[in-house]
Amino acid sequence: MAHILIVEDEPGIAFALEADLTSEGYTVSVAGTGDEALRMTRGGESYDLVLLDVMLPGKDGFEVCRELRRSGARTPILMLTAKAHEAEKVMALELGADDYITKPFSPRELRARIKAVLRRSSVDAPDVFTFGDAEVDFARCEVRRGGRAVELSALEFKLLTAFVKSRGRVLTREQLLDAAWGRDVSLNDRVVDNHIVGLRRKLEVDPARPRHFLNIRGMGYRFDA
Ligand code: CA
Repeated sequence: MAHILIVEDEPGIAFALEADLTSEGYTVSVAGTGDEALRMTRGGESYDLVLLDVMLPGKDGFEVCRELRRSGARTPILMLTAKAHEAEKVMALELGADDYITKPFSPRELRARIKAVLRRSSVDAPDVFTFGDAEVDFARCEVRRGGRAVELSALEFKLLTAFVKSRGRVLTREQLLDAAWGRDVSLNDRVVDNHIVGLRRKLEVDPARPRHFLNIRGMGYRFDA
């Protein structure tokens, strides 16, 4: 599950956010000031998303956002704006935030927004990724094995992209459906299984004994490079 850094100085709000996101299964860390947030993001820990309040003592959320982007950090940033001012939202996006949400918001709205930001960021993938004897060229949407082109359908390629981005982590069938078909499509989970059979047939040395596209019983699938 994704690791989220909450940057919020008001303890009550920070605590409520932490409790809610933890119950959703996220790993959560909290920073009470902008400086603390910058220290934490520059430390060894890596975050999948920063939930950044604009109103902070000292460095405000805008400054933190600007500094993070200046330092080259590409971590998705979701800003919490207190006022409904259009200018604040525009500024957040111009400084490199991925999205904003206006206080007060419902936990449900926040969860949906977080999922959307995480989904978009997971589309980013390395240009070329290799595993086994396969080479995935994301820039050209091509897959090769031993130098020879392998034909993947568009859906298989999207699934493969989701796997590569989340390699080593279990993905549920629902998450895979989201990644390849989009969130609003309702399909039977079996559709995912069928496409994974296709990926194994095309990309595993022995499709009957897969080493990369692994079924995790009762959970979903995990991709091991
Ligand atoms: Ca605040």
